[in-house]
Amino acid sequence: MTYVLAIDIGGTKLAAALVDEEGSVLRSGTRPTPRTDVMSALTALIAEVTEGGPPPEAVGIGCAGPLDLATGTVSPVNMPSWRGFPLREEVRKLTGLPTVLAGDAQCFALGEHWLGAGRDSASLLGIVVSTGIGGGLVIDGMPLLGPTGNAGHVGHMSIDPNGERCECGGRGCVERYSSGPNLARWALDNGWSPAPDEKADARALARDAAAGDPVAVAAFERGARALAGMIASTAAAVEITTVVIGGGVSAAGKVLFDPLERMLDDVAGLAFVRAVRVHQSTLGVHAALAGAARLAWQHT
Ligand SMILES: [Zn+2]
Repeated sequence: MTYVLAIDIGGTKLAAALVDEEGSVLRSGTRPTPRTDVMSALTALIAEVTEGGPPPEAVGIGCAGPLDLATGTVSPVNMPSWRGFPLREEVRKLTGLPTVLAGDAQCFALGEHWLGAGRDSASLLGIVVSTGIGGGLVIDGMPLLGPTGNAGHVGHMSIDPNGERCECGGRGCVERYSSGPNLARWALDNGWSPAPDEKADARALARDAAAGDPVAVAAFERGARALAGMIASTAAAVEITTVVIGGGVSAAGKVLFDPLERMLDDVAGLAFVRAVRVHQSTLGVHAALAGAARLAWQHT
């Protein structure tokens, strides 16, 4: 049996695993992401997962963005000690193995396509809806990364050119409508008040929407309409057949997915766009690690 080493790097957690060609995990480990000297923590984690085990053939890394695949460098927003950090080269030097890097949302999409809710689909859009909105595309079974690794930034597709200014500098981005904080912000502006002991976040909003609070329901419908516009546009551009949605906000379940189905039915026109199927993530927090393994296998 042969293995690859999969690594998932996020602002709160580092994860690594030895994964075989079928996607089975032989050994795995996690540790919190330190404020500084992330590379030392990653080195220790890699040692923990690999020492005494079968030698892996390649390394796949999914890392929080932004990143630059042309140079193999990363500058994750919530990891201030890494700015233009040469992650790909550092891991290659450390392990002596071929090392492939992609964004964490791209790895989410690849993982769901390989082993999760998008298994056996021809072309897939993976969307991670949480504090922001990330995405990744798998076209004809292969990840579409783009020359600098920025393909799939669907959270910053404009669904309203006359809409509000986004933090990215663009206007009317879907993230302004559908991310967790923006769902809660719109609901608060429109009269929603969470229970006194609750934080005014998307989780509380989802609970209230499930209980029938009209403003909470309207907030999810508005967010779902924006997502539907983005999904239909992406489907029209690259003929995806399947959408898989993960991230904290996807845990809202029916209060998000039911209006999303309705809005997509309203927004989509062409038959191949109307045929797109939307699923909730089945791998959850493990999707990006699975995708990193798949990435490594595709390069062995
Ligand atoms: Zn934006």
